[in-house]
Amino acid sequence: MPRKIAAGNWKMNGVQSTLAELRTLEDKHGDADIAILICPPFTLISACEDTPFDIGGQDCHPEDAGAHTGDISAEMLADAGASYVLVGHSERRTDHGETDALVATKAQAAYDAGLIAVICIGETLDEREGGNTLDVIDAQLEGSVPATADALNTVIAYEPVWAIGTGKVPTTQQIAEVHSHIRTRLSDRFADGAAFSLLYGGSVKGSNAADIFAVPHVNGALVGGASLTAQDFSPIIAALEEA
Ligand code: PEP
Repeated sequence: MPRKIAAGNWKMNGVQSTLAELRTLEDKHGDADIAILICPPFTLISACEDTPFDIGGQDCHPEDAGAHTGDISAEMLADAGASYVLVGHSERRTDHGETDALVATKAQAAYDAGLIAVICIGETLDEREGGNTLDVIDAQLEGSVPATADALNTVIAYEPVWAIGTGKVPTTQQIAEVHSHIRTRLSDRFADGAAFSLLYGGSVKGSNAADIFAVPHVNGALVGGASLTAQDFSPIIAALEEA
């Protein structure tokens, strides 16, 4: 069975005082039997070590070490206390020109460091309106997910680019179509494809979480804006616990 995961991507938000939100979340969900993953900025990873939550980086460099000013390696994330790392988030693909091939090398670096890679994929609005969504998903799955992936080292997050931070959410039928397609493709390629956790991401909120979690093959969410406060993230976690 795929593991249920409520993942929060804090992006470039959060300072020491923001950690108070995690204390509030801990009071409400500290003994949850789903995975709660927080991906804070790199500067807060070590400070999250005493929470009961899984901690992840938001990106990693494909190499272990070297002359790459400003970058961080998967090994460093693991050393700081992370057990997951996001790779291929659309903001990295857009802001930093990351290709599928680069994302695959980052995922491999994550595996080599003992981290679980959350590999993000998703179509742009033009691609959806052009009727190319499933072709884009196929290409990203093929290009971004290494042959060494399995259900223990990899989570796939389907995040339509046009839904991230916009308040626009696909219909549950649209989410169902893509998630079922991803499941089929993973099952075709990997012996344990049925066990990969598949997350939906893009404007998830307390008000739409239960409907999204009722969609077949949605095993959780990758949440941006609504993960920044316990007040907003808690109802999403609660909806996943109940799903
Ligand atoms: C994200 O950053 O991955 C994301 C889904 O953001 P938001 O929830 O704010 O749309």
